[in-house]
Amino acid sequence: MTGFDQLRLEGVGRRFGTADALADLDLTIERGEFIALLGPSGCGKSTALNCLAGLLPLTAGSIWQDDQRIDTLPPEKRGFGMVFQNYALFPHLTVRDNIAFGLRMRRLPKDEVRRRTEAAIEMVRLAEHASKLPGQLSGGQQQRVAIARATVLEPSLVLMDEPLSNLDAKLRLEMRTEIRRLHQSLGLTTVYVTHDQEEALSMADRLVVMRLGRVQQIGTPEEVHTKPATWHVADFMGYRNLLPVSATRVEGDAVTVPLGETTVNGVAQGEMNAGDEVVAAVRPEDVRLGSADVAGLKGRIEVVEYQGRELAVEVALPDGVRLHARTDRKVEPGEQVAITITPGRLLVYPSGDPADRP
Ligand code: ATP
Repeated sequence: MTGFDQLRLEGVGRRFGTADALADLDLTIERGEFIALLGPSGCGKSTALNCLAGLLPLTAGSIWQDDQRIDTLPPEKRGFGMVFQNYALFPHLTVRDNIAFGLRMRRLPKDEVRRRTEAAIEMVRLAEHASKLPGQLSGGQQQRVAIARATVLEPSLVLMDEPLSNLDAKLRLEMRTEIRRLHQSLGLTTVYVTHDQEEALSMADRLVVMRLGRVQQIGTPEEVHTKPATWHVADFMGYRNLLPVSATRVEGDAVTVPLGETTVNGVAQGEMNAGDEVVAAVRPEDVRLGSADVAGLKGRIEVVEYQGRELAVEVALPDGVRLHARTDRKVEPGEQVAITITPGRLLVYPSGDPADRP
């Protein structure tokens, strides 16, 4: 199968028994894009990837490569490359032979197999390890072999399922950059599954944030990070302060909500009226500490954690609510402090299902 300009998933669903592991997935992937499927464990990311790969038949919807329907094709006819978290390398074959395997299976001329294999080995910087067996390599090196083996076939789409989850923190950071570099230099189209929001934000052109088998939001890293579509997405994106409150005043998208012994202003992220139950969401980075003599929101420091340049603190408000905040001042537990929320950064969501509130 050759390349494509667009890959479209239309109403894709996968049901197991009576449970929808994946429902109503609509997504258009443009050639050259790096898409991350992101969400908590069990949200349907791997199911979506396996449906794309052809490893799992759909129970609803269709998948199109330009104007050709491909969800009825077996995996090998789709021409996609796959990289899994357990690498799935052949243990008895050298790095070079692992990478050459797919090209040989295609019965390409020997010269071409050699040329493409050596180029792939260079690309993932494994020249000095090419004659070793996978068992003689570090986890990161094995992962690079798996990536080379998948990309040497010049697939129209590369599917990666949590490829970095077995690596230590430092190597994970290095491999993020490496995968992104390969994606760009080889002009790949990539769909990448992860539950790590930082990984997704740093690598992808667009994120598909999922929950309970359904898409919650599709957007650029900036969109998803600064304007989460629902409070569940906000939760997943590190808005650690999720406060179930009732709106005091609503004027356009300006909402006032009660907090501590005062009220604060937020930005409505949907239809709401005064008196409605809502969820106010704000990141710890946007909750700052000042000195206690300023009028406004006040609280008492409960927990202080060192986090590099800043301190992460937990502040108890007079009404018992606890806020996660950040400060570059030296503070101690027990201290009374004033709290300011960065204007525009408190997002207020309709709370939705009452049984499903933070
Ligand atoms: P993780 O990050 O833990 O891999 P995920 O987001 O990839 O999670 P999936 O593996 O796609 O989630 O699973 C989605 C839902 O479908 C889960 O509730 C899971 O239990 C269910 N599921 C997945 N595969 C099967 C199967 N073969 N039979 C029955 N249920 C399944």
